[in-house]
Amino acid sequence: MQVKHLNKAYGNKQVLKDVSVEFPAGQTTVLIGPSGSGKSTILRSLNLLVTPDNGTFDFNDHHVDFSQPISRKEMLEIRKDTGMVFQEYNLFPNKTVLGNVIEGPTQVLKQDKATAIKNAHEWLKKVGLDDKANAYPNELSGGQAQRVAIARAMAMEPEYLLLDEPTSALDPELELSVLKVLLALAKEQQSMVIVTHNMMFAQKVADKIVFVEDGEILYDGEAQAFFDRENQTPRMRQFIDSIM
Ligand code: ADP
Ligand code: MG
Repeated sequence: MQVKHLNKAYGNKQVLKDVSVEFPAGQTTVLIGPSGSGKSTILRSLNLLVTPDNGTFDFNDHHVDFSQPISRKEMLEIRKDTGMVFQEYNLFPNKTVLGNVIEGPTQVLKQDKATAIKNAHEWLKKVGLDDKANAYPNELSGGQAQRVAIARAMAMEPEYLLLDEPTSALDPELELSVLKVLLALAKEQQSMVIVTHNMMFAQKVADKIVFVEDGEILYDGEAQAFFDRENQTPRMRQFIDSIM
């Protein structure tokens, strides 16, 4: 998966400036950078929640030129293959945990209900919450709700899982339970793109780091090298020191 030469302006504010990045399959790419730098805008471009003014997006057989209209068919196919998890787990409050997880597979993938339920239990086991299958979202802690959101996204069998600050709303002890689930997915070579401010987690999970500032990519490379002080530019060092 790759974007090239993305530009995006809101009014006269240029929020993406010629952004080109590759998100390798089977790897975890972590986007970091100060608030307002454009991380969410990049991430959302990957499942077409945001349409950059121009630039291209290549994903499997899809070639999207953002300066041209995108067909509905192509948009739906790309959305299906890129599951998104937001900071505020937006579960359906009137559905049980199981109901939340089977909704997409039955409605969108047209799985039969028995298959969807079986798969849902598998995913709930993976995130350690199968015992909550019949609970409602308001009976869950934030960490549990976010793990359900991950199970729900994964039940759609996306090729890439996209996560926008998945733990920013959580207390540290609840955060850990979510990070463990993501680390396990990374180990299984699930393709992921994660926006996070948690540098310890980034260091653990990332194959690749992309450092964004003011709509520009200041670092794009191996995670290990990013955390090696000898490779850090003064700006990278300043940012890392400010949040680590
Ligand atoms: P980050 O995720 O790194 O905090 P964002 O991608 O959310 O940054 O935002 C980048 C810039 O674009 C910010 O200045 C933000 O205020 C602006 N922005 C984002 N979305 C919108 C929008 N829908 N309308 C106007 N400005 C926006
Ligand atoms: Mg953001």
